[in-house]
Amino acid sequence: HSPGGEALRLLVNGSCDAGVNNTVAQATFNEKKWVWVEDKKAGYVAGYITRDMGEQVEVRFNDRSVEDMADLTFLNEASVIHNLRLRYLSNLIYTYSGLFLVAVNPYQNFPIYTDEIIRYFKNRRHHEMPPHIYAIADSAYHEMLQERQNQSILITGESGAGKTENTKRVIQYIAAIAGDSSNTKILGKLELQILQTNPILEAFGNALTIRNNNSSRFGKFIRIEFNSSGQIVGANIERYLFEKSRVTYQTPEERNFHIFYQLLRGASPQIKSKLLLNGSLNDYRFTKNSLKDIEGVNDSIEYQALVDAMNVVGISEDEQIDLFRVIAAVLHLGNIEIASSRNDQAQIFETSASENFCNLLSIPVSDFIKGLLNPQVKAGREWVTQARTKEQVLYSIEALAKSLYERSFFALVDRINKAIYRPNNNSQFIGVLDIAGFEIFKVNSFEQFCINYTNEKLQQFFNHHMFVLEQEEYKLEGIEWKFIDFGLDLQPTIDLIDKANPIGILSCLDEECVMPKATDKTFVEKLHRLWKDKSSKYQVPRFQEGFILQHYAAKVEYKTSGWLDKNKDPLNENITKLLARSSNQYISSLFSDYLGDITDNDKKNRVKRGVFRTVGRHHKDQLHSLMQQLYSTHPHFVRCIVPNEEKCPGKIDVPLVLDQLRCNGVLEGIRICRAGFPNRLSFDEFRRRYEILTSGIIPKGSINSRDAAEKLLDAFKLDNSQYRIGTSKIFFRAGVLAELEEIRDTK
Ligand code: ATP
Ligand code: MG
Repeated sequence: HSPGGEALRLLVNGSCDAGVNNTVAQATFNEKKWVWVEDKKAGYVAGYITRDMGEQVEVRFNDRSVEDMADLTFLNEASVIHNLRLRYLSNLIYTYSGLFLVAVNPYQNFPIYTDEIIRYFKNRRHHEMPPHIYAIADSAYHEMLQERQNQSILITGESGAGKTENTKRVIQYIAAIAGDSSNTKILGKLELQILQTNPILEAFGNALTIRNNNSSRFGKFIRIEFNSSGQIVGANIERYLFEKSRVTYQTPEERNFHIFYQLLRGASPQIKSKLLLNGSLNDYRFTKNSLKDIEGVNDSIEYQALVDAMNVVGISEDEQIDLFRVIAAVLHLGNIEIASSRNDQAQIFETSASENFCNLLSIPVSDFIKGLLNPQVKAGREWVTQARTKEQVLYSIEALAKSLYERSFFALVDRINKAIYRPNNNSQFIGVLDIAGFEIFKVNSFEQFCINYTNEKLQQFFNHHMFVLEQEEYKLEGIEWKFIDFGLDLQPTIDLIDKANPIGILSCLDEECVMPKATDKTFVEKLHRLWKDKSSKYQVPRFQEGFILQHYAAKVEYKTSGWLDKNKDPLNENITKLLARSSNQYISSLFSDYLGDITDNDKKNRVKRGVFRTVGRHHKDQLHSLMQQLYSTHPHFVRCIVPNEEKCPGKIDVPLVLDQLRCNGVLEGIRICRAGFPNRLSFDEFRRRYEILTSGIIPKGSINSRDAAEKLLDAFKLDNSQYRIGTSKIFFRAGVLAELEEIRDTK
């Protein structure tokens, strides 16, 4: 077996089922029995049985790969995975599958992103381009200029699949080619600034996880804006779903956000003393239990790169100190030790961590400690002082640490936007979405629910787009065929999640969040009452408190413990009010929403008016705005794939990849494709390929290619449900051409 070589024949010992991977081999297509043959080197090799002799079978391998899966005459799971695999093993990480560019993480640096390659794509005509992320970036750019339409590039995939790497490549490519006519462009200031936003975002928003040494713990939509001559005039970054829980807790194999390690390892003694940091990673509760090192990464060097990047973007030294101030404050906050008195009241004996925290954030320490241990709360019309237990105080400290970090991260994104965004009415944009794909874990909670909801919407967008394109093409070719809008298939699940009436899961959660006595349990019971037996997409799990949702990719069971808190995200308002009144402007701006006394009534009003938004509501609104933008663009879809779980180059784990193709919509795309007439050939091409199957049906001489094609179709006695004749080409049902190919093979 030699990838890229000729088809081989080989005898395999054992019965037909030996070495057969069930997921793939179940299917019999066009009378062919596909099998996976185990191969020591390649893992599995796909082929089909040509002779079955009981104990022995003869298998034929077909190992030519195609750049576009649409060119596969057999379009199905087995052929798609086989093709991806063959290409990957020949170091070809990019492949088209219909509207998708599929990118398989190589886990090694191929020289495919050099300046030379950029020039290659820049000077190439579109139909000549091999599959590559640059080809997508280039098409988006030119289509924006030619069609005068905004463009979007949607990049999804599992953690570690390569979304962020590909996003960087898109921006690098566009920065290099935008509005430039010469080949040797020195990047302009704005372009450099846009490129340098990335190390900043990664320092504060990325972390080492088991799956990815540099995992983005937030989603983002980067819009690059252009004037009518194609020059970049600005950019804007929108962020989604930030994993702030990492600030206070990491498993021993993971790390906190990079910035903690960079600051503690890389900052100068002067800066550290300004931040009252005299310890190292092992001295702070929020870093000491985590892993400390990333292979091949030096945190001090990264710190320097971060500072350089901030300088390029124009974030001043004072602003940098403010950002670091928050990081240091979070570290001090984590070190506040809470004791418990005999009657279970929280106490603080050692005040140095609290003092450091308050000094850094310019708030009075006595008020802080009082607010923490004995907060004033409103009971009816009266303000009363409450005693807190150790657990309650620890809980509010962690909530505060997470919120402080998150608010500072969001403010950083705003600050970056201030540097690179120039509102301009006449501009057009290319938006790049780098957001986590569909997730199914052993335990799925509110975070997975939000991500899967997002992906359900994105998949609907894809399906609808495909529907529109197919419809257009059929219309253009004058073909009678009502293509089904598969986007509608997804609507019941989406309604179940986000509809207000009948009340969907998110609204139901919001309602429970303002009910005085509500708990996670009352929430899920209410959900069951509302949706059990009312929607085919909703089920009640047998064993745990939660619900099961049927998504397009799979059924997912969600566990609802903790959802009320995750959605409400409550903070100790005694402390947030102190922070809102801090004499440090940056700090007070982070909590300005807590300025003034907020009465319960105010709060209810704010919830109603959407000023005080729950986490779910906020995400729903953001997603709504994202979708609105996306629907106004010409989209391009990129699907990143993790090839194996060991981050190992040159190895592809077939079931793992198949699973992702299912979750990321590539297989869904193929299913939709197969519902219509996925294979298309021009009249000429059809004649050229299949004329040899008939003898002398087409008269020699000047017969036009359409008539010739029709004569051929007659001769093949194809059922007319199997094809449609358009104005320039013939459309075939899946599998029809495969059969013709087979007959041709035997000729
Ligand atoms: P997450 O959801 O965790 O943020 P991701 O999809 O953004 O994951 P990346 O951070 O882009 O994943 O990629 C993970 C790692 O895989 C990179 O740090 C890099 O080492 C490697 N990698 C991904 N794509 C490529 C590529 N095209 N060429 C070389 N290495 C790559
Ligand atoms: Mg990422």
